[in-house]
Amino acid sequence: MAIAEEMHIDRILILDFGSQYSHLIVRRCREIGVYAELMRCDTNIDDIRNFSAKGIILSGGPYSVYEEEAPHCVPAFWQYVDQTHMPLLGICYGLQEMTYALKGKVSASAKREYGHAELMMKELNAEERKLDNQANHSPAVNGVPTAPRDSEPDPNQVHDNPTAVSPNVHRLFQGLVHNPTRVWMSHGDKVTQLAPGFQAIAVTPSSEYACVAHLEKQMFGLQFHPEVTHTDEGTQLIRNFILKICGAVPSWNMKNFAHTEMERLRRQIGERHVLGALSGGVDSTVAAALLHKAIGHKFHGVLIDTGLLRMHEGPEVIQRLKQHIPGLQVDCIDATQEFFDALKGVTDPEKKRKIIGGLFIECFEKATKELHLPVEGGFLLQGTLYPDVIESISFKGPSATIKTHHNVGGLPAKMKLQVLEPLRELFKDEVRALGMELGIDRSSVWRHPFPGPGLAIRILGEITRERADILRQADDIFLDEIRKSGDYDKIGQAFVVLLPDVKSVGVMGDSRTYEMACCIRAVATSDFMTADWYHMPYDVLARCSSRIINEVTGINRVCYDISSKPPATIEWE
Ligand code: GLN
Repeated sequence: MAIAEEMHIDRILILDFGSQYSHLIVRRCREIGVYAELMRCDTNIDDIRNFSAKGIILSGGPYSVYEEEAPHCVPAFWQYVDQTHMPLLGICYGLQEMTYALKGKVSASAKREYGHAELMMKELNAEERKLDNQANHSPAVNGVPTAPRDSEPDPNQVHDNPTAVSPNVHRLFQGLVHNPTRVWMSHGDKVTQLAPGFQAIAVTPSSEYACVAHLEKQMFGLQFHPEVTHTDEGTQLIRNFILKICGAVPSWNMKNFAHTEMERLRRQIGERHVLGALSGGVDSTVAAALLHKAIGHKFHGVLIDTGLLRMHEGPEVIQRLKQHIPGLQVDCIDATQEFFDALKGVTDPEKKRKIIGGLFIECFEKATKELHLPVEGGFLLQGTLYPDVIESISFKGPSATIKTHHNVGGLPAKMKLQVLEPLRELFKDEVRALGMELGIDRSSVWRHPFPGPGLAIRILGEITRERADILRQADDIFLDEIRKSGDYDKIGQAFVVLLPDVKSVGVMGDSRTYEMACCIRAVATSDFMTADWYHMPYDVLARCSSRIINEVTGINRVCYDISSKPPATIEWE
């Protein structure tokens, strides 16, 4: 059951046609304070009905509606929308799907339109405004009337904001500041004939149907993408749709979530126990705090020191967790020797990951025995987040393979544990907000991400204890310097990479050195999907380089990585 149903809050459903921006639509709704969830476009009607949405958004997608392979909503969907007067917003492919299903026409156009366009909103005449206002219906499924509609445009709003758009444009555009406003397009097909009952309410120079509406039925279609930041006032448009047109009440927040989720966890877990592998990272820390608050001593955390953690990380994480989550039961297991033994002579990155993953499972299992943890009939906590869930449920077309994510893949099956994923409905920023809500310190909540295999994937070539120690020292200096300079919080991820087989000549204290080179990397990113190399101030770079070369025996050369993602990735391996 969706968390929103338990929280008794309004929700918006996003049907996914495979757009690379579908998750952004979900995010925008939630940022506005309304819970939203993604489902495949061809989800059966019972599941759609059971979700009881206040409104539905149809995403974009890479297909063309008239193609044989093209994805469509199930036929019953259109009856359902009609019967329940469900407000609908189609975005790009979503608009085309709506037009196609409701008997309009969509055709390929000669030229693909990609990039910015100026959207000009039309003024509605008195008759159209009346029609629009009369359509004051709420989705019958909820049985709750929608929020009162502003029957006439609010003149004060315009007064308050002299640059705001005319009050005579459609409600979907109210609160927007510019007319025309800049929107972002990415399409090759276009609507060539509107479905009956639809009319254009905004146009661009190249698209007479840039925004269309069925005023009586409260169905809308946009040829552009309001969910991307390139559309200047896109969020306001989505806000108007979900708050004004769907009448959803914005009550999604982490305080409500924490409360409901803890209740739900208590019910689900009962008298059983939950084990969790903690790493000190944001997700596992917040999940542990939630569990500890919900079930107290029935939660047990284990931190495996693989020898590939950062400087003093094992003990520090334990101390931090105990301090921020008073009473938390957590043990640190030293498995460093096992990991270095298993990784001896291995240089292939994929092999490293596999060995580490497998050995992690073994060590965790062994630890539960040694610590006499109650495994029988228990649960294993996993820090799965909503982007992982989206990845596995989103519509990818017939040829796509579905990837499943597990933080500690293999464990539950082996130990016969049931998986518990209390964060699976949340985005990273929501996890952080939840962490703050649970009283976890800012420094834990805003930590940079650290990969599961740890320093292993930053030691290119063979991993030995010596090389891990060298990298650990360099990494520690780097992080220390960017914390001191105030750059840490502006950076998404920062680390040092130890280069393999590259040795270079240097002079230190009048004698020749022939030592290793390392590369420092820092990226600025908001979502980790794309990233730019961080424009680090020269003086900070200078201090990092000089301290690493002076303080770390074994490194005599420091480089700075100036590659963006794409085409590079954030980590090197
Ligand atoms: N494939 C459709 C087109 O090219 C829809 C594109 C989209 O949804 N971004 O028009």
